[in-house]
Amino acid sequence: MKDALEKTDLKNLSPTELEGFIAMFGKERYRSVQALRWLYRRGVRSVDEMSNLSKKFREQLNQAGRISTLQSIRIEEDRDGTKKFLLGLEDGNRIESVLIPDKSRLTLCVSTQVGCGLGCRFCLTGKMGWKRNLSVSEIVNQILAVREHLSGKSPITNIVLMGMGEPLANYVNTLKAIELMAHPDGFGFSSRRITLSTAGLLPGLEKLLNEKIRFRLAVSLNAADEETRSRLMPVNRRYPMKRVLDVLRNFPLKRRARITFEYVMVEGVNDSPRDAKRLIPLLKGIPSKINLIPLNEAPEIPFRRPSEERVREFQEILMKAGLTAIVRTSKGINISAACGQLQGRALCP
Ligand code: SAH
Ligand code: SF4
Repeated sequence: MKDALEKTDLKNLSPTELEGFIAMFGKERYRSVQALRWLYRRGVRSVDEMSNLSKKFREQLNQAGRISTLQSIRIEEDRDGTKKFLLGLEDGNRIESVLIPDKSRLTLCVSTQVGCGLGCRFCLTGKMGWKRNLSVSEIVNQILAVREHLSGKSPITNIVLMGMGEPLANYVNTLKAIELMAHPDGFGFSSRRITLSTAGLLPGLEKLLNEKIRFRLAVSLNAADEETRSRLMPVNRRYPMKRVLDVLRNFPLKRRARITFEYVMVEGVNDSPRDAKRLIPLLKGIPSKINLIPLNEAPEIPFRRPSEERVREFQEILMKAGLTAIVRTSKGINISAACGQLQGRALCP
């Protein structure tokens, strides 16, 4: 029998790869549908729980494959209902996922990397630097770990890939994980309920042009001119905003679909009426909406959050120009679970 770590982690396989893996044992196609359902609909922790598969087949699966899980290390709950899950990976690294209740929605924010290499100056994950990419199983296991904690009470309705890391810097694994989220025999989330947020990695965005997109796209803009954006997001020097917006202008969007632009508002840096006015022509020709996120402050971050009036004024300028702009105050601030506050560390031992 193979050593546990030599075995194939079944959750690292896309639906098509799982089919190929199972075909190695000469099994019919519907076996892989059954396995998918056991893995993601039921969330089994061992092959032996797959009770409608023959004993022989389970033995074969056990010999070549294994089912990984994440260790739930700590769960913190904010007064506003937001929960932050600190999860342990097999190599000892830690990541965070955040569960956000909002009216009829229950959104899970998942991580795609340990840390992030893009170093945006307002983001604590950026301060950590990049440690490594998450595997497909580590991405989807976040959903399973949180679902297990909810124990069937209220189902997760939406997934946002907005936790630690830059999803398009971990392109292959992220897209495979999304495939499992959207597959009818996998998690079965409608593609309207999966959102990928990117800092605008141009090569990744260009690759997406050739894919079947099974998610909504959000792009972190955070400035209305190149210089300010480069100051806040060093990645802009490599992939300037203008080129990113040009690609987005050609993005194959389904009818009525829109791209979300995220705009973290930073006092005295990108929050002036002039910035708002500059945004208007930039976004011309891109079906979009803008989420204005007042900065979440932290001692390590050298910026401040603008006043509410300043944010409203900015929003009104955009709305008067016919754009959709929504102010999003992050939830989970009291437990450092809000946007840009994830660091993968336990607050207490
Ligand atoms: N790397 C991806 C996804 C993770 S960051 C991206 O940058 O889009 C998710 C969102 O959190 C981004 O829109 C980012 O701009 C925002 N964010 C980061 N730090 C923040 C902070 N301190 N306050 C508010 N939003 C922040
Ligand atoms: Fe990375 Fe996104 Fe944070 Fe920038 S905002 S450092 S891209 S996680």
